[in-house]
Amino acid sequence: MKEEIRCFGCGAIIQNKDINKIGYVPKLNNNKQHILCQRCFKLQHYHQLQQTNLTADDYLNILQEISKKDALIIYIVDLFDFNGSMIQGIQRHLMGKDLIIVGNKRDLLPKSCNETKITHWIYRQLKEYGIKPLNVLITSAKKNYHLDSLMDLIDTHRKNRDVYVVGTTNVGKSTLINAFLKAYASEIDLPLITTSEFPGTTLDLIEIPLDENHALYDSPGIMNHHQITHMLNPKDLKIVIPSVEVKQQIYQLNAKQTLYVGGLARLDFIEGEKTSFAGFFSNNLKIHRCKLENADKNYINDQITTPKANNAKKLENLKKHDFFIPEGKHDIVISGLGWFSLKGTRQHIRVFAPDGVGVFIRQSLI
Ligand code: GDP
Repeated sequence: MKEEIRCFGCGAIIQNKDINKIGYVPKLNNNKQHILCQRCFKLQHYHQLQQTNLTADDYLNILQEISKKDALIIYIVDLFDFNGSMIQGIQRHLMGKDLIIVGNKRDLLPKSCNETKITHWIYRQLKEYGIKPLNVLITSAKKNYHLDSLMDLIDTHRKNRDVYVVGTTNVGKSTLINAFLKAYASEIDLPLITTSEFPGTTLDLIEIPLDENHALYDSPGIMNHHQITHMLNPKDLKIVIPSVEVKQQIYQLNAKQTLYVGGLARLDFIEGEKTSFAGFFSNNLKIHRCKLENADKNYINDQITTPKANNAKKLENLKKHDFFIPEGKHDIVISGLGWFSLKGTRQHIRVFAPDGVGVFIRQSLI
């Protein structure tokens, strides 16, 4: 039988027959070690987003299988896109499980943020989803921040069981696991990575041995289609996705003023007292401010030059969302893009965003 070669990045069987299937490489060669499929290669070298063919249902099936096991589950969320990291229906499979929530990409939030406050905020948000974790940990996989604490938590809560790492695409799961491998490779006296087929699916899990009998399993992620990132080309994605600490940008607005977030979303301050809006968006994304009465004209005339979503080149394709901001500090979130934070006094705010992108209000994160 021909020997199977697996991709070092995702664990898929390497093949050169079908470009649309996992494990594809343009040319097979004799080097059998550390081969990356084209998808993983592009991801590592060009930072192109990983495409997966998993649907939300596939993903929930995987979670369902995982939830049947007596194991520790690590669920990774992106702190910059918390709501985009949660999947509808996920609580069914996580309820009652031994679960650690990892809030990753700490480095994108301002340094001055109080982490205890963020942690409590995450607990409160999770409560709304009906999820009660054993622990919540803030990390930055990119900066190796709190990885030791995560290893300690795993050691404490694993209790001689396997560990499953789950999360939507782009939350930093692979980066975290790679950082883990780098940090602990020398401590694990076992082959570093093996792969195993997930029961009932054609998906491969990456298996990292923890001891002779137990392993940490990396599951594939799922694209959350509410995120604006699926509507952008790779060039615009680089502008929209922050890669360094996001500097908050403050705007004092009177009613009848508008803020454009690039050409991707628009916030109209319809009615209310003068208010301070703190924007948390990629530093490369320009915020344009104008009078509400000129806002349509500016969009149509293409004065708003920075990215527009593929499905929203025309103003009428942007969907309208109306909010009356309750008392207290709140964020108006545009999923995957960022948020505006403001103090509520029943202001009437209207947000326009590409159809399909989640726009909602939440208790302030920062
Ligand atoms: P996965 O799809 O969940 O496996 O996510 P990846 O590990 O491929 O990461 C997705 C993107 O987020 C990549 O561009 C990573 O470089 C980036 N990323 C991962 N972890 C962090 C982090 O802690 N901070 C920042 N700023 N970016 C991160």
